Amino acid sequence: MHHPTVKILDKQFSIYLPERKILHSVEIVAARLSHDYRGKKPLFLSVLNGAFMFASDLMKELTIECEISFVKLSSYEDMQSTGTVKEIIGLKEEIKGRHVVIVEDIVDTGHTIANLLKQLQGKEPASVEVATLLLKPESLQHELNIKYPAMSIANDFVVGYGLDYNGLGRNLRDIYKVM
Ligand code: 5GP
Ligand code: MG
Ligand code: MG
Repeated sequence: MHHPTVKILDKQFSIYLPERKILHSVEIVAARLSHDYRGKKPLFLSVLNGAFMFASDLMKELTIECEISFVKLSSYEDMQSTGTVKEIIGLKEEIKGRHVVIVEDIVDTGHTIANLLKQLQGKEPASVEVATLLLKPESLQHELNIKYPAMSIANDFVVGYGLDYNGLGRNLRDIYKVM
């Protein structure tokens, strides 16, 4: 179902990125990744929970040999990002010498991804890049090269297509922004 607005807890959200637009941007980023990683057997590391839908749609569009695995980071609350250090949970794969692509839902201040990159770089991968569904360039507080953003958005709080508001809204097939 597509709705012009949705209410989650105390907040109203309005439609922002419809499913067809999301899937089109996912196809484009998947084509770039397939081109750049052909023959390299990359390891895609999807960050749960938020990136699950993006990871799923992205993987289906890749035309190369690759692995996918899932990690969790210690979570963040409510509508604000925090600068606290987030620990990687569930990483079983050997990273050393691998071409790693982090699959994220959204890069906001960049604290989370900067921390994750630092932790992964310590494990001596052959390379690490970031594929993110959404990038908020105006919020970014770190010198980061986010090589594979599917879409860039303004500094609004969004939900849907994996992204939550206090645990809710992840199942929405479109992306909504807070009104
Ligand atoms: P950062 O550390 O880059 O500031 O924030 C990254 C994390 O904050 C994301 O992985 C996501 O969990 C959360 N986040 C940042 N902006 C939004 C947003 O607009 N909507 C939702 N649902 N989560 C967000
Ligand atoms: Mg995330
Ligand atoms: Mg969240």
